[in-house]
Amino acid sequence: MKQQTILWFRFDLRLSDNPALKKAIDLNLPVLPIFIYDEEDAQSRSLGSASKWWLHKSLENLSSELELVGSKLLIFRGKAEEVLQKLIDDTKATNVLWNRRYEPWAVKRDRLIKEKLSAQSINAMSFNGSLLYEPWEIKSKIGNPLKVFTPYKRALLSKGIPEPVNSKPSKLLSPTKWPVSQSIDKLKLIENKSWPIKFHNYWEPGSNKAKEKLEIFISDALHDYNINRDIPSIEGTSKLSPHLRFGEISPKEVLNSINHIEENDGINVYKSEIIWREFSHNLLWYFPNIHNTPIKNEFEKFEWDNNEANLIAWKKGLTGYPIVDAGMRELWATGWMHNRVRMIVASFLTKHLLLPWQLGEKWFWDTLLDADPASNTSGWQWVSGCGADAAPYFRIFNPIIQGEKFDPDGNYIKKFIPELNKLPKKFIHEPWKADSAILKNSDIKLGDTYPNPIVDHKFARERALNKYAELRK
Ligand SMILES: Cc1cc2nc3c(=O)[nH]c(=O)nc-3n(C[C@H](O)[C@H](O)[C@H](O)COP(=O)(O)OP(=O)(O)OC[C@H]3O[C@@H](n4cnc5c(N)ncnc54)[C@H](O)[C@@H]3O)c2cc1C
Repeated sequence: MKQQTILWFRFDLRLSDNPALKKAIDLNLPVLPIFIYDEEDAQSRSLGSASKWWLHKSLENLSSELELVGSKLLIFRGKAEEVLQKLIDDTKATNVLWNRRYEPWAVKRDRLIKEKLSAQSINAMSFNGSLLYEPWEIKSKIGNPLKVFTPYKRALLSKGIPEPVNSKPSKLLSPTKWPVSQSIDKLKLIENKSWPIKFHNYWEPGSNKAKEKLEIFISDALHDYNINRDIPSIEGTSKLSPHLRFGEISPKEVLNSINHIEENDGINVYKSEIIWREFSHNLLWYFPNIHNTPIKNEFEKFEWDNNEANLIAWKKGLTGYPIVDAGMRELWATGWMHNRVRMIVASFLTKHLLLPWQLGEKWFWDTLLDADPASNTSGWQWVSGCGADAAPYFRIFNPIIQGEKFDPDGNYIKKFIPELNKLPKKFIHEPWKADSAILKNSDIKLGDTYPNPIVDHKFARERALNKYAELRK
C-alpha cells in the first residue's frame, strides 16, 4: 500500500492557515482527513450542548469544503488512540499530523499518542494552529512566564504578528481507497433538538462565513470598536468568538486582515482583545486546573453561598435586575452574550449572590456557542477576583449604573425582556421604583409578570465587600 498521511482535525476546522494541513500538502502523499469524537474528551470535560450544535454544523461545513478540493472528511467516534491505531493498521499510514490543544487532559493524551506512534516509526507531528504564539514562546526578558496581561501583550507584540502559513488549497491528494467513515449525524451531537433550533436565526458556522463576517466587521464596525464594543444593543463587536473557538478562522488570519489599515484606537483595542484570547491560553497552560481551581489560592477557603433558588433565577434571567436578566436571556436565546454583559452577570452571580464562580462557568460552558476552556474560565476567575491579574475584589458592578451607562435607552433590555417593553425609560433599570399607575400602564405586575429584585443591591454590595475583605485578613 502506498504511503499516506492522516490529517487529524480537532479545533482547527478550516483549510487555510492550517499548519498541519500545510505539512500534509508538503509531504505530497495522499491525505486522509479525519475527525475523532473522542470518548476520552467526554470523560474529562464533555462539550456543552451549545458547542455540540456548533461542532455538528462546523463538521458539515468542513466536509463540504474538503469535497470541493477532491477530498473528504472521515468521521470516527471512540478513544483517539484506538481509532488512530486501527486506521494506521488498516491504511498503513506513515504520518499523523495535528494542530495542538491546550487543555491538560488533551495535552497528556496527545503526548502519549505521539510517543506510541513514534515507537512504531510513524511520523507523528503537532503544530500551533490556534494561537499567534505558543504559551511557552512568550516570556519576560529574563525568561519567566508572564501572568499579568500588559507585560504579556507587550512581549507578544514585540515579536510581531505572524503571517498565515497557507491559503486554501485547490486540491488535496486522495487515497485510491477511502476507509469506511461514520456519518456526522451518528455522533448524535444535537441531542436536545428543540433548544438549539433558534441558533439558526443568528449563526452560520463555517470558515467561509467567518471570513465574510470579519470583512463586514472591518468595513462597518472596526473603526469605532473602542467605543461601540461596550454597547450591547448595537453590532459593535465582531461576533467571531465561536468561529475562533472551533478554529474556522485563525487569530493570524484575523490580525493580518487588519494590519494594512491605518492604526487608530478601534484597531488597537481590537488587537488587544485578540491578545486577551492568547493570554487566556497562556493562563490555561500555566494553571492547567483553572476551570475549577482558583488561581489565587486564598480563594480556596472562600465560603460561597449555595442558594439553589438564586442560581435558577440567575440562569433563567429572573433576578429582577433588567440588565442581568436581559444578558441571561440573550445567552439562552442566541447561544452568545455580549462581553460587557458577561462581566455584569458574572459579577452579579459571584458578588451579589455570592454563588461560586464555578457554577456560572459551568452554565456558560453548557450554553455558550463560544464556550472555550481558556477564555471562559479565565473570564470567570477575572470577574470573581480570584484570577491572575483579576479585577480587584472591591469592583462590584452595580447592575443599575451599568445598565444606565451601557444601555441608556433600554433597547437591549427590551429586546430580550419583552414584558418590560412598555416601561418608560426612566424606570427601565429599576422597575421597582415605578409607581403602581406606571406599572399598570406598562402592563407589569411586579412579582408576577416580572420579578422583584432577588437581593437588594446596597445590602448585597456591603455583604460582598465584608466577605471578600475577610480573605485579606
Ligand atoms: C465571564 C466571562 C466568560 C467568557 N467566556 C468566554 C468564552 O467561553 N469564550 C470566548 O471566546 N470568550 C469568552 N469571554 C470573553 C468575551 O466575552 C468574548 O470573547 C466576546 O464577548 C466574544 O464576542 P466577539 O467575538 O464579538 O468579541 P470581539 O469583541 O469582537 O473580540 C474579538 C475576539 O477576541 C477574543 N476576545 C475578546 N474579548 C476577550 C476576553 N475578554 N478574553 C478572551 N478573549 C477575548 C474573542 O476570541 C473574540 O471573538 C468571556 C468573558 C467573560 C467576562
